[in-house]
Amino acid sequence: MQWETVIGLEIHAQLATQSKIFSASSTQYGAEPNTQANAVDLGMPGVLPVLNREAVRMAVKFALATNAEIGRHNVFSRKNYFYPDLPKGYQISQMSLPIVGNGVVSVELEDGVVKEVGLTRAHLEEDAGKSVHEDFHDATGVDLNRAGTPLLEIVSEPDMRSAKEAVAYAKKIHSIVRYIEICDGNMQEGSFRCDANVSIRPAGEARLGTRSEIKNVNSFRFLERAINFEVERQIDILESGGQVVQETRLYDADKDETRSMRSKEEANDYRYFPDPDLLPVQIEEELIESIRKTLPELPDARRARFMSALELSEYDAGVMTSDRYTADYFEAVVKKSGASAKLACSWISGELFSRLNKDGLELNASPVDADRFSQLVERVHDNTISGKIAKEVLDKMWSGADTADQVIEKEGLRQISDSSEIEKMIDDVIAANPDQVAEYKSGKDKLLAYFVGQVMKASRGKANPGELNKLLQEKLKG
Ligand code: ADP
Ligand code: MG
Repeated sequence: MQWETVIGLEIHAQLATQSKIFSASSTQYGAEPNTQANAVDLGMPGVLPVLNREAVRMAVKFALATNAEIGRHNVFSRKNYFYPDLPKGYQISQMSLPIVGNGVVSVELEDGVVKEVGLTRAHLEEDAGKSVHEDFHDATGVDLNRAGTPLLEIVSEPDMRSAKEAVAYAKKIHSIVRYIEICDGNMQEGSFRCDANVSIRPAGEARLGTRSEIKNVNSFRFLERAINFEVERQIDILESGGQVVQETRLYDADKDETRSMRSKEEANDYRYFPDPDLLPVQIEEELIESIRKTLPELPDARRARFMSALELSEYDAGVMTSDRYTADYFEAVVKKSGASAKLACSWISGELFSRLNKDGLELNASPVDADRFSQLVERVHDNTISGKIAKEVLDKMWSGADTADQVIEKEGLRQISDSSEIEKMIDDVIAANPDQVAEYKSGKDKLLAYFVGQVMKASRGKANPGELNKLLQEKLKG
């Protein structure tokens, strides 16, 4: 039997507001437990929530960025359940009238294919607190700092057909929310988390299979693994004659498996009803237009521009627009260095990224900023130094504060392009290797590389490779 995988994601993006969605408490991450929760967040009786205008603006911005419908009239509802980290006994969320309706996101897959994934909706809600298990013996602590932090829950259609597609979609949403600066995207801190709904069905079947929902996956790698594990588990069940039960599961990264958490509740179980403490939200055209003006160039448009105006390949354009910071860095380097986009891109995605990777750094924490980096690329572009030397220069820049030019001067690394100087070195090498010269002349062309190597060595890597090759071939012929 051939099985088809079906995946829909619910992504919780923490909105980057200063204060909470219904109170003035700070949303800053990492404070002492319970120092950022006021009477509203604690669910004290008699207090009233006040909606944070900024959270509304951010949700509308997301709708504009994904060509989604805007819920001009949207309503907050109470989702009732008990949990120690939810003192009110309900979460304020949106049910039948969310702030964002149907939209669509195009997702680039590995093979260059672009897939459109439907957005069902996105709604505003408050986060719950956290139960803390680590620091307590036989007890659980409750930290309500996170209670009331604004979330945008982004729900996709069940359009993904593999773990890889689901990851590509999640990455795209991650990139969009960061581009439009509504979420910092920090997955370790829980600012961006995914619930994966997974089912399988016989290939060709139109009806959806029974799904399980894997909660709170907080890395793309885990998302892929959790889905793959879940697909295998469901196939095993169905092929051995069993039935998948609809349930909520947890992914355990240490064991690389999913485990049942609870049987799946239905919307009815929550007794949703409109929150009488909050008015419906009316979104006016004027507000939408003012938010539209704050939209930056989005990743898709920027990618297309990098391909058409800068002649980057589709792949390179994708890498250079994977997040806004990278795209800004790249554009600054192209502009300042005067080099081709292709050269700038290859230095950024190659030498720069590999050093950042090695040091576990994000680009915005790079020891070499776009300004200093562009001078390095400029010196490769204008042939002051070869690519090989440029790597050495970059190493020096990485651990110090010197500019590329300062390193080149101090270390005497300027490329030798003067042909008489190179010719002299070639003559010396030819004179010192009569046997190899004879072999070369008798047809052993491969020896050319040997001569290039010898001259390079004599020049301490500084001979202009193009010039060297040209002169060497002339000399060997003569
Ligand atoms: P709930 O809010 O109870 O989790 P929804 O019906 O709103 O349920 O669906 C949540 C997510 O689950 C959506 O992303 C949707 O695309 C996805 N989904 C629904 N049914 C299936 C299914 N059979 N297989 C995979 N994903 C599904
Ligand atoms: Mg759900």
